[in-house]
Amino acid sequence: MVVDVDLKPIKIKGLDNKRPLIIAGPCSAESEEQVLSTAREISAMGVSIFRAGIWKPRTRPNAFEGVGSLGLPWLQAVKKETGMLISTEVANVKHVNEALKHDLDIIWIGARTSANPFAVQEIADALKGVKIPVFVKNPVNPDVDLWIGAIERINQAGIDQIAAIHRGFSSYEKSIYRNAPHWQVPIELRRRIPELPIITDPSHICGSRDLIYDISQKAMDLNFDGLIIETHINPDKAWSDAKQQLTPAALKKVLDRLIMRESDINEDMMLTLAELRDNIDKLDDKLINLIEERMKEVDKIGRYKKENNITILQNKRWDDMLRSRLILGERKGLSEDFINKIFRAIHQESINKQTQIMNED
Ligand code: PEP
Ligand code: MN
Repeated sequence: MVVDVDLKPIKIKGLDNKRPLIIAGPCSAESEEQVLSTAREISAMGVSIFRAGIWKPRTRPNAFEGVGSLGLPWLQAVKKETGMLISTEVANVKHVNEALKHDLDIIWIGARTSANPFAVQEIADALKGVKIPVFVKNPVNPDVDLWIGAIERINQAGIDQIAAIHRGFSSYEKSIYRNAPHWQVPIELRRRIPELPIITDPSHICGSRDLIYDISQKAMDLNFDGLIIETHINPDKAWSDAKQQLTPAALKKVLDRLIMRESDINEDMMLTLAELRDNIDKLDDKLINLIEERMKEVDKIGRYKKENNITILQNKRWDDMLRSRLILGERKGLSEDFINKIFRAIHQESINKQTQIMNED
């Protein structure tokens, strides 16, 4: 079923038919100086939308929960000085009213709020009669209907400039990502509301800055419309999400490296390919977790050998091990050469690890 949502093309400076739409700025506004110095650098590289969290939803109490309304004039100063549009997250009616009072150009609804229909409805009611673009982040759980429901609530309040933000989904399973991307969810959203722009949030998907380029490129390869990337003048000193924020210079590198491919494959092919690739990504993720687990056992063996003065390499054990892996591999249709290479590499890494342990004081 394709959803009937009444949307107008988003008329935001920077998106006029131009992919990708880039939104950048710190996770949180911390001080006027931090906000302005970040904004100056990212504006100079041509980014036209600034983000900064004013009210921060934190998992545990007593963490930094945002500077609150006192930071809103700092965002106005960004607009005045750089001409960038300014955006922030709203989670309740008070936030909406404060944001409107301070001329925010765009507001977004965060992942924890999108998961709560009561909260979204209250925000929607507060937006009746207001003309402002609203970005709706996916709910924390991978439920496309809940995401669509939040979009519909905002749309039915009369907001017709809406974009979705894909920021990944939390899960119990350990993964290299802070929030697993589950690409099939935004792809399904695209199928259900084809005219809705989808912006990817690599920062909250990745949780660490080294993965940001790959997720950004993947989003572009899947034909999504934009990227929202947390950028901070001094990321290591950030008061929230320090590990995932980029410096303005690093943001520039990511953006310069992006390859924009013209997509001539149809949506069905794209969906199938994305699902298959997603499966591969998940399996590789599991593979890495398994290798990590294996190395923890190696660590225990290494310590045991050290305590008991046993040599690291026990030739018979290694011969037996390789032979049994080759037999198992053959049964599964995996070539001898392949199994040989994998287990020699794993074994070598295990020996290196044990050598390290032996050499520790
Ligand atoms: C954010 O964008 O800073 C944020 C809190 O994101 P999310 O709602 O995706 O967790
Ligand atoms: Mn953040």
